[in-house]
Amino acid sequence: MLLDAAVVSRCRRRVHLEHDPAAADAPRAALDATTQRRIADAAAHRRSVADQLAEHHTADWAEVSPDLPAEQRCAATLALLSKGTPFVWGGLLPADPLGGRRGGAELLVRHRGGYLPVIVVRHKVTDPGAGARTSPLTQPVLAAARTDPERKLRPHSRDQMRLAHTLRLLQAAGLVARGRATGGVIGLEADVVVWYNLDAPTWSGGHSAMVEYDARFADRLAVARAAATGGQPLALPSRVTECRSCPWWPTCGPALRASRDVSMVLRGEDTVALRGAGVTTVDALAALDPAGNPPAPITGMSFRDAVWLARAWQRDLTLVRRHRRIGVPRADVEVDVDMESFDEAGAYLWGCLLSGSDIGMPCGYRAFATWEPVPTPDEARSFAAFWSWLTDVRSRTAERGLSLAAYCYNEQAENRWMLSSAERFAGAPGIPTTAAVQEFISSETWVDLYALVGTEFLCAHGKGLKTIAPVAGFSWHDPEASGENSMRWYSDAVGLGGGEPDLAQRARLLTYNADDVRATHALRLWMSSDRVNEVPYGGDL
Ligand code: SF4
Repeated sequence: MLLDAAVVSRCRRRVHLEHDPAAADAPRAALDATTQRRIADAAAHRRSVADQLAEHHTADWAEVSPDLPAEQRCAATLALLSKGTPFVWGGLLPADPLGGRRGGAELLVRHRGGYLPVIVVRHKVTDPGAGARTSPLTQPVLAAARTDPERKLRPHSRDQMRLAHTLRLLQAAGLVARGRATGGVIGLEADVVVWYNLDAPTWSGGHSAMVEYDARFADRLAVARAAATGGQPLALPSRVTECRSCPWWPTCGPALRASRDVSMVLRGEDTVALRGAGVTTVDALAALDPAGNPPAPITGMSFRDAVWLARAWQRDLTLVRRHRRIGVPRADVEVDVDMESFDEAGAYLWGCLLSGSDIGMPCGYRAFATWEPVPTPDEARSFAAFWSWLTDVRSRTAERGLSLAAYCYNEQAENRWMLSSAERFAGAPGIPTTAAVQEFISSETWVDLYALVGTEFLCAHGKGLKTIAPVAGFSWHDPEASGENSMRWYSDAVGLGGGEPDLAQRARLLTYNADDVRATHALRLWMSSDRVNEVPYGGDL
């Protein structure tokens, strides 16, 4: 039984299923297009980092081909490490049968009589600030690490677990560097190596990443061994966030629904707490007195809401009202805003729907887009055009003494890209300062309908716009409309991968974006109408 680093950050049931011979034929979803693209993007990022590093270290650099069979890859790695090669890219370490692990790291760097792992990831690993231990890409070694005056660490538990896993493998092979457990990460920025001290007591409870890793790995190994040998399963399905992207959902989902598992309405810690108190099904939760004391403390929502949500799930209701009266801020002039981005690469489209009193600007939908593949400086032009239009709406509304509300659905994405655009394109024509963006998104004008839906309703099937807006009677023109599909359409629309740009897909994206803003418009009109009272009130269930 040999496990790789991923198991440590993975759902325990998934580890079970992946090692249970009886689950070999159980239904599994194929990799979706988004995941496939992420895998390809991550591989391209690793390659580009390898090329940069190799340029700086031609004489000290060696690569192990990923195309070799595992055994030969491992032998080639060992040969390079035993020669003391300073930088080994793509190494696969000897498996550790006693410890039950296998794996490698993108880069192994020579240090104090052995090696340290450096992994390459496609997410941000620092934030502006100070205090991270970093070394430049020109010197990706611990000896060159300094306290960075411009970067602070953005800690990722998964990265630390991967580094700890590789350190244990190096240790088992007698190849680990002397000194404290240390590993490096090169992130999306690909500008420095960020070093983690994995012996530091930075984890909750005051223990280190190494201690956390050892405990988690021992647990996953026990789960996998029990599954492989037909022992009592140590992990049962329970709905968690990871289920959304897990290939095993076609197996776990129906099982959880059939057993009416309490995790269908509650998540994480609360599910564990209620199970501990003997409340294992939605029906058992629904039967409790919502005005009474909870059988175990729950933190994700009030006990009353938990019982109402269970009752909504029993009746297959998408929504129930949390209050007798539903409120949504309205104004003389209203704007619905929706942004489309392509992963981390950029925000390529800002769509706006203007409605309400006449301010001398045409009402209806407007799109501010760049069709040059992001990242592109042309993104600055389209963002500036969006901001200038919004500023015009705000000024004209204020001049006329009218009120204004601008709506979005889940402000996190829009806020993030507005702030990031102001930062990235600072100084370009028409780009606002981050302070100006901050002033707008903190103002009462900016209304997050997603948060409002959470305040006003309990949502038994999730809070996504595609789930909620149909309750308000809205439907999308495109039967395949989804965030995931929009990524694929975008690739075709701008000709990523060298193809000709597909103009039909651009039109499709514009229709999709226009529908999204019309959906928030329809949702809030419905929330301010009497029709919303057709949604049952939780207390009446
Ligand atoms: S579907 Fe959910 S419960 Fe099942 S293995 Fe995946 S993450 Fe775990």
